[in-house]
Amino acid sequence: MARATKRDYYEVLGVARNASLEQIKKAFRKLAMEFHPDRNSEDGAEARFKEIGEAYEVLSDAEKRAAYDRYGHAGLQGFDVGRGFEGFDFGGFGDIFDAFFGGTASRRAREAQRGADRRLDIEIDFEEAAFGTEKEIEIVRNERCPRCGGNRAEPGSQLARCASCEGTGEVRRVSRSFFGQFVNIATCGQCRGEGRIIKEPCKDCKGAGRQRETRTLLVKIPAGIDDGAQMRLSGEGDVGPKGAASGHLYLGIAVREHPYFQRDGEDLIYDLELNLPQAAIGCEVDIPTLDGKPHELRVPPGTQSGRVFVLRGKGVPRLRGGGRGDLLVRASVIVPTDLSGEQRELLLQLAESFGTPVSDDEKGLLGKIKDALGSSE
Ligand SMILES: [Zn+2]
Ligand SMILES: [Zn+2]
Repeated sequence: MARATKRDYYEVLGVARNASLEQIKKAFRKLAMEFHPDRNSEDGAEARFKEIGEAYEVLSDAEKRAAYDRYGHAGLQGFDVGRGFEGFDFGGFGDIFDAFFGGTASRRAREAQRGADRRLDIEIDFEEAAFGTEKEIEIVRNERCPRCGGNRAEPGSQLARCASCEGTGEVRRVSRSFFGQFVNIATCGQCRGEGRIIKEPCKDCKGAGRQRETRTLLVKIPAGIDDGAQMRLSGEGDVGPKGAASGHLYLGIAVREHPYFQRDGEDLIYDLELNLPQAAIGCEVDIPTLDGKPHELRVPPGTQSGRVFVLRGKGVPRLRGGGRGDLLVRASVIVPTDLSGEQRELLLQLAESFGTPVSDDEKGLLGKIKDALGSSE
């Protein structure tokens, strides 16, 4: 950290040169609170916060302070002063803050205590998935007890301050690191971090602070959602302990099959079966659509199995907006399996006209069918 002009550390913290460690801590705490980037968005607040942190790092450490007192800034060259602050990004300031003050900004701790997530699976119709819908879902979850407001104590009852942590909920241990003195914070085991002992638990929740409730939620399912998708309903899970944020509700979406459409992302696939004459000569067929109104499709002569006709914009609406997919009509030519005698004869004639007479066996079979038909008439 080579800076042209560095302010005097005592001046930075606004303390006398003979200030006690307690006075230095107090001054630092006050200034750091004022210039902490989370609280102060003014220009230069961050730089000031770093400067304050650096000054504190030196003056709170007996060895560094002695070196500084004797030789000024030059005396600290071997100490790597300020490195710790330089290396942190903004998100890290909270941690430094915690380190010095013991959980003033214990955001991380609160996050860790967030209530449990819940998961629920629902099944919706193919069309509902395509065009979106609203669904009522029922969920059983832990909610804050209304009687004690999650406080766990009977309203109006006495609370005793925890003796082992003196009501702070935290026990502090001092350790040393390259920052100088560090205060490590651990949750008080006696009161489980609450700082108080409940003498009379809430009558409704028996001191749990939460209750099991069955809730009906109205959920908007967006158009274009697909089978297997998962929606996150923020804060609709279990309530967190001690006023922490609630967990999330994850809603798994299963989409029922459609009688004749398959889905491929935003596109729909429809299998169109054509018989031999339809495929060979061509035809007009009505193709069902998701919207309900059939689409008339011209199948050209000589259509082969596997040919795909694309009906633009007749697919599924795109989940993130912007038009719809396509309806893909996949032709397959079906070879007949149960011919009538007449149809068989026509096909035989067709075979002969192609110059590909069928086997004697086939002819013999035809004769038998003819006989059978003749005798039944
Ligand atoms: Zn309660
Ligand atoms: Zn305690």
